[in-house]
Amino acid sequence: MHNIDMDLIAMTMDVMKYVIHRITHTDIKIGSPQKESLLKEEVGETITPKGIGGERAFQLFKEVLVPATVPIDHPRHLAFVPASPTRASIMFDLVTAASSIHGSYWMEGAGGIFCEMEAMRWLVSITGLPASAFGVFTSGGTAANLSALVTARHHWRSIKEERKSLRGLMITSTGAHSSVEAMARVMDVELKEVFCEEDMKGSELQKCFDALSAEEQERTFAVIATAGTTNAGIIDDLQGIADVCKEKGLWLHVDAAYGGGALLSPKTKPLFVGIERSDSITIDPHKWFFSPYDCGAVIYRNPKLAKAAHTQEGSYLDIFQDEGSRGFNPSEYQIQLTRRLRGLPLWFSLATHGTDRYRQAVEKGLEMAEISQQLIHSMDHVEMVRPIALSCVLFRRKGWNPDDYTRWTYDNHKKGYALVAPTQWKTKQGSERIARFCFINPDTTKEDIVGILESMK
Ligand SMILES: *Cc1c(COP(=O)(O)O)cnc(C)c1O
Repeated sequence: MHNIDMDLIAMTMDVMKYVIHRITHTDIKIGSPQKESLLKEEVGETITPKGIGGERAFQLFKEVLVPATVPIDHPRHLAFVPASPTRASIMFDLVTAASSIHGSYWMEGAGGIFCEMEAMRWLVSITGLPASAFGVFTSGGTAANLSALVTARHHWRSIKEERKSLRGLMITSTGAHSSVEAMARVMDVELKEVFCEEDMKGSELQKCFDALSAEEQERTFAVIATAGTTNAGIIDDLQGIADVCKEKGLWLHVDAAYGGGALLSPKTKPLFVGIERSDSITIDPHKWFFSPYDCGAVIYRNPKLAKAAHTQEGSYLDIFQDEGSRGFNPSEYQIQLTRRLRGLPLWFSLATHGTDRYRQAVEKGLEMAEISQQLIHSMDHVEMVRPIALSCVLFRRKGWNPDDYTRWTYDNHKKGYALVAPTQWKTKQGSERIARFCFINPDTTKEDIVGILESMK
C-alpha cells in the first residue's frame, strides 16, 4: 500500500525522533487545556481537499496541540489515577500498530494472541484463581466490568427460563467506581448500593440482601466488590463477601482495576485474601501495570461462561469456528469484536524487564504513599483524613474551604508545576472537600511531595 518515497522516510525519522525524545525525558511540561476556538485560531484548517502535509500537521501537533495536554506520566501528576507506561511498552505500542495484526481471532492473529495469552496467564496467576481461569484484554476497566457482568447475568438467566423476562439486580457499595453504575444503566439492571464509609463488610452485604423483598432477592444475580477503591485505595472484605455470595448463589465480581497492581507486593497481597474465590476480576494494566492507554483486563473463573455470553454469530464469521483455525479467540470473551492487540505492549515489557521489576515499581508507589504520610504528620498545616491505603493519600489543609483547594489545584497546574486534584470524602455526617495523592509513577520523588505540600502553606 505504501510507496517508499523520501518524504515518508523523512517523516518516519521525524516521528522516531519525537518518540525517542519523549520517552527519554521526564521534564516534559505539564500543559493546560485551551478553548477550542483558541486552538482553532492557532492551527487553522487541517482537513482540506489536498491535505496540509505530514510535516506541517506534525509541527502543529508538537508545537500547539501537545502543550494543551497533560502528560499523564509526569512525576508530579498525582491526580485521579495517573499512569506511567514503561519505555518498552510504549515502543511496542508502535510495533503493535505497525504489525497490523487483527486481535480478534486465532486464525488471523495467532502469533500476537499467543503473546497476550502469555501475559494473561501471568495476570491470572497473581490473582490466585485456578489455572483453568482465563481472560482477555479490553479497552479498560469499564469494558471489563461490563463484559464480566453481562456474563454473570447471561449465566444466571441460562439456569431458569423465567429469568429471561426478569430485570436483574446487582449489589455494590458506595466505594464502587462510577463505571459500575454506568454499566448497570447500559445493561438496564437495578443497582443497590450499600453505604460504606470504609470497606464493605460481609455482614453489611448480608444485611442489604436480607432487607430486600422476596421479589428483589429473586432478581439478584451479582455482587460487585472493590479491591482498591479509586478514591481511597480501600479493599472490601472479600472473604466475608465471598461467604455471602456462596450462600446465596450470587456471582462475585471483584473490581481491582486500580488496586490489582498491589497483588504483586507481599506487603499488600494479604489484603486481597478472598479474591481467589471470585467469579470474575477486573484489572487495568494501564493503571498499575505500566501499560500505555488503553488496556484493561477481565478474568473469568470459568471462561466458558463468558464465551457463551459473548460469542457473536454471523455468516461471514463462520470460518473462524472451523477446525483448522481453532485456537483462542479473544473476541468471544468480551463485548468488542474487532480489536487491536492491546495486551502486546504489556507482554513485551514483562518479557523485557521480568516480573521482579514490576513488583519493585509497584512497591515504589506504596513507599511514596508512606513517605507522604510521614511528611504530612511532620507538618503543621496539613493532616491525614484517614490512614493511607495502597498508594492513595487523603489529607486536608487545616483551615481551607472548598474553594481554596480548587484555587490551589489550578495555581499549580497553570504554573506547569504539578497536577494534584481535590476529592470528596463522604461520611454519614456529610461530604468534605480534601486533597488526594495517588502514586503510580516510580519516578516521583520525596522532593516532589515536599514541594507540593509546601505549595499549600
Ligand atoms: C479506573 C477504574 C475503573 C474504570 O476503568 P477505565 O479503564 O477508566 O474504563 C473501574 N473501576 C475501578 C476500581 C477503577 O479504578
